[in-house]
Amino acid sequence: MDVPMCTRCGRRPANYYRVSSGEKLCFNCLFRSIEDTVIKTIRRYRLINEGDKIGIAISGGKDSLTLMYLLGKFRKQGKLPKNVELMAFSINEGHPYSCFYRMARSDYVQKLSEEYDIPYKVYTFKELFGVTATDVAHGLWSKGINVHMCTIDGVLRRRAMNIIGHKLGLTKIATGHNLDDEAQTVLLNVLSNDLDRFAWFGPKPEIDREGFIPRIKPLRFVREEEIAIYAHYHGIPLMELECPFVYSNPRYELKFTLARWERDNPNIKYSLVAFGDSLAKLMSDKAVRTPLRKCKYCGQPTSGDVCRVCELMRKAGLMEKYLAHFKTLKLMDTQSSS
Ligand SMILES: [Zn+2]
Ligand SMILES: [Zn+2]
Repeated sequence: MDVPMCTRCGRRPANYYRVSSGEKLCFNCLFRSIEDTVIKTIRRYRLINEGDKIGIAISGGKDSLTLMYLLGKFRKQGKLPKNVELMAFSINEGHPYSCFYRMARSDYVQKLSEEYDIPYKVYTFKELFGVTATDVAHGLWSKGINVHMCTIDGVLRRRAMNIIGHKLGLTKIATGHNLDDEAQTVLLNVLSNDLDRFAWFGPKPEIDREGFIPRIKPLRFVREEEIAIYAHYHGIPLMELECPFVYSNPRYELKFTLARWERDNPNIKYSLVAFGDSLAKLMSDKAVRTPLRKCKYCGQPTSGDVCRVCELMRKAGLMEKYLAHFKTLKLMDTQSSS
């Protein structure tokens, strides 16, 4: 029986069928193609420039670990612009089901940290906000306000990244979002009729938002499945521990919906992300997007009067405690870092 050969090199047996392109690839060509996609994304959208100080947000999942591995490897190979500083950090939400606790492999992050000379640090919600996510949840729930734990974590985590960015003097924060995450985001924005969110969706770092550290997503054109295979064969641990809150998270359902749709339309994830990017481009016009203002309580960037963190803290009855702590961070009225 003829073993199907790799459609790229024609020299080695194929190990992977890429549904979106119809290619049959050997692992060698698959891994090279993934690395090429990431480096092309970085160059095409100018995600990383000379002298950038990049913070890699490590959630502990395979995506952020793969991102740390790849950026370290690229810098070592001289593929990144000159004088790029890399750092990595994790955020400990402070409850036993938090994303941080799913990361049982902090030893692997330490290993990468040493191998690629990327300093690594863990921050807790407690040290950043003066309160934990559980404090916020209890405060809200005791008043009969039902807010999902993932929402609280999400709002605080996004702010935490900004605070950490200012503390470390980062010019950009890199996250491990992959093609599947991005496709889900497009669908979620559509399903919740949230056009405004597309203004910040595109591939380019948002360098014109004052007080906001730009985010970059170098893996956003790589399918989750391919990252998993890449991770597995490069000794990057795959954490399969699911957060118990995940089942009521709307993304969880979308994952299966997308997988079903993909059977009829193998390019659906690329199409969704391209559609989101086109909308983002249309909306990059400053006249269309909601301008960023400063929160009247904490001075952090927000589209309304009060930022979502302060809104949560106020409802949870933790405003005084939070603001007292926030002042000690000396971040009030943060200036643009770009
Ligand atoms: Zn090949
Ligand atoms: Zn605020």
